Amino acid sequence: MDISKLTLVELRTALRQGETSSVAATEAMLDRIVAQDNGLQSYLTLTDEMALEQAQAADERLANGERTPLLGVPVAVKDIICTNGVPTTAGSKILEGFVPPYDAFVVQRLKAAGAVILGKTNTDEFAMGSSTENSAYVTTRNPWDHERVPGGSSGGSAAAVAAGLAYAALGTDTGGSVRQPASFCGLAGLRPTYGRISRWGVIAFASTLDQVGTFGRTVADTTALFQVVAGHDANDSTSLNVPVPDFEAALTGDIKGLRVGVPQEYFIEGIDAEVETAVRSAIAKLEELGAEIVEISLPHTGYALPVYYLIAPAEASANLARYDGIRFGPRITGSDMIDSVKKTRALFGSEVKRRIMLGTYALSAGYYDEYYGRALKVRTLIKQDFLKAFEQVDVIAAPTSPTTAFKIGEIVDDPLSMYLQDIFTLPLNLSASCGISIPCGFDGRSLPIGLQLIGNALQEATILNAAHAYEQATEWHKRLPQKGKPIS
Ligand code: GLN
Repeated sequence: MDISKLTLVELRTALRQGETSSVAATEAMLDRIVAQDNGLQSYLTLTDEMALEQAQAADERLANGERTPLLGVPVAVKDIICTNGVPTTAGSKILEGFVPPYDAFVVQRLKAAGAVILGKTNTDEFAMGSSTENSAYVTTRNPWDHERVPGGSSGGSAAAVAAGLAYAALGTDTGGSVRQPASFCGLAGLRPTYGRISRWGVIAFASTLDQVGTFGRTVADTTALFQVVAGHDANDSTSLNVPVPDFEAALTGDIKGLRVGVPQEYFIEGIDAEVETAVRSAIAKLEELGAEIVEISLPHTGYALPVYYLIAPAEASANLARYDGIRFGPRITGSDMIDSVKKTRALFGSEVKRRIMLGTYALSAGYYDEYYGRALKVRTLIKQDFLKAFEQVDVIAAPTSPTTAFKIGEIVDDPLSMYLQDIFTLPLNLSASCGISIPCGFDGRSLPIGLQLIGNALQEATILNAAHAYEQATEWHKRLPQKGKPIS
C-alpha cells in the first residue's frame, strides 16, 4: 500500500483498522514535502515536530479505541488562519514573524477532531489574488505543470493536496479563492455558506464576503473536513446558529429528480472552448444520472465584478488599517509616529496597496453613497437573482473559471485580466449561496477543468451530494499529477 496515495477517507479507515499508523502517514507526507516542495513551494511553514507529536498521540488514542472524526489524519492550513505558537503571515511582509497566541476556531476544531497539522500553506497577500503570485514570500507552482499557477489565493493548500503533500487542507474563499484553485489543481473545493464556519482567528480581508472552505481529492474527503469545522461559534457574531447536518451521510449518490439550472450568463464569449465543452458534458452526465436540466437566467451577473471590486477593497481598506507596526508584526521606526506608520505600511505589496487606495477612495466622504452604497444596492439585485433561480432549481451548474491554469507571469501585471479570473466565482460570494468546484475533464495540455455546482444558503448537503454523484460516475478525480514537468 502506498500510503500517500490514499484518500483521506481511505486513510481514516486504514487507521481505524490498524492497517497503518498516523506516524507512518505523517512521515510519508513529510518525506514527500522534503522531496517535492522545493519545486512546488506550497508550504510557507512546516510544523513537522508538532505534527509528529500529534501523530504519536493519535496512534496511542487509536490503540485505545478512540474514534474522533479525523484522528491521525495529516492536513494543511492556509497561512491566513491563526495557529497558536506557529507563525501566521497572511502571505505578507507586514506580518512577518507574527506568532498568534491562540488557535483560530477552525484549528481548535481540527485539533479536537484529532487531525495532525503539517504546516501552513502559501497564499496571495491577505488572500488578494487568483494565482499566489501576490504572496510576499514565494510563488506556488501547479503540480500538473510547474510553469503554471495553482490558482489563488489558497493556491498553497490546493497544490499541497493535489501533489499528495497533505490529505486535505483548509483555505478561504472571499471571491473564489477555494473554488478557482480547486479547479486549476483538479480537486474538490467547497465554499460553504457565509456564516457556516466561524472566522474567529481568520485574518480578515473583506468581512461581508470571507468564509473558510475545504479542499480534498474527493468530494467525500472535502466533506469530512468540512464536517469537522462547520458550526456555530459565539466568538464570531456572523457565525450562524443553526444545526449542522450530517454531511457525510448526505452523500448517497442519488440525484434522481434534482433540478439543475444552467445560467445562460455563464456561457459567454471569452470562455475557453475546452472548458465549455467539458462543463456541458458534465451537465449532460448529471442529466443521465437522473437530474432535470433547466435553462435559467441570472441577469445581473455582469455587474458582479465591478460590485465585488468596490465592496472587497472598501472592506479591506478598513480591515487593513490595523497594521500600523504597533500591534502586530515588524515595526520600522521613522522620525516620528506618522513616519513610522508610513514606513511600516510600505511593507504591503502592490496589490494590497492598490486595494487599500481603491477602497479608501470608495469609502471617502462624498463618494461613499456613489460607490460603496451603490455597490451594496446592486449586490442586493445579484442576491435576488439567485433567490429567484432557487425557486426553480436545486443546484446551479456552471464553469468555475473561464480558463485552465495560466502561466506564471502571464497576467500578473494586468490587474483587470487577473480580476476577470473570478467572473464565475464572485457572484456566489455576493449572494448567500454556497458552491463547490470538482474536476470535470482535462484540456489538451492535461490541465484540470472545474465544474462549479452552486446551492442556496445552507444547502451544502445538496451540492455535495450532486458533486459526489457526478464523481462516482466519472474518473477525473482519480488522475494524479505525474511529475509536474512543464508540458508546453
Ligand atoms: N481573486 C479574488 C480577489 O483577488 C478573490 C480572492 C479570495 O477569494 N480571497 O479578491
